Amino acid sequence: MTEGQLLVVSGPSGSGKGTVVAFLKKMPGYAFSVSVTTREPRAGERDGVDYYYITKERFNEMRDAGELLEYTTFCNTSYGTPVSEVERAKTLDRALVFDIETEGAANIRKRYPDAILVMLIPPTYAELEHRLRSRKTESDEKIAGRLAKAKLEVPLFRHYDYVVINETGKQEEAAKILDAIVRARICQKQGGPKTEEEKELLSFVAGFETARHPDTAKTFFQK
Ligand code: 5GP
Repeated sequence: MTEGQLLVVSGPSGSGKGTVVAFLKKMPGYAFSVSVTTREPRAGERDGVDYYYITKERFNEMRDAGELLEYTTFCNTSYGTPVSEVERAKTLDRALVFDIETEGAANIRKRYPDAILVMLIPPTYAELEHRLRSRKTESDEKIAGRLAKAKLEVPLFRHYDYVVINETGKQEEAAKILDAIVRARICQKQGGPKTEEEKELLSFVAGFETARHPDTAKTFFQK
């Protein structure tokens, strides 16, 4: 058993990250770090599963008591990772998955240098806008805020280990790529590839290394 691999998945809100992470959660050996948030639950979201939904006062209390590993506030909503979540990683075969934005990802990296950071982005900015609008859960103002944040976030993919394009309708494939990335890291930690299958796994995963995709942000904004 490999204890405690952390997998941080970031990507603009509306990148389809939630669905990809949901597929990953169903795979054996994974668990999801449940954050606290001050926003209202969306349709279908459950308290304690997707987030712990708390008041701003409670959020401030937790922050001040040092109960949050990292936190951020944007679009007038606060999000944070409870310290207690990381403990769960120790019981897992593969990884604890964090769905957090870029600032939080950088903070997790500082604290846990071994964490794997993956940026998941939609194929184009136009597609992202379409996905956000068709969700019909937020006001135009919130959507504009999320689009503005996406413009700042996507270029930060350079600080991530891997970049995965979440093609429309292919969220399960994206989850399998994330799983391959984790298995490849575990294989490396256990002394490197020993079988042909493991060699193939490592070379497949290398195709998603950020360094191999220097033009990702340009492509995203151009189309
Ligand atoms: P949403 O409101 O769409 O669920 O999430 C908005 C953004 O907040 C997403 O980019 C998500 O990854 C990020 N987020 C969710 N939980 C946390 C957290 O605990 N910490 C940080 N830094 N970001 C979070």
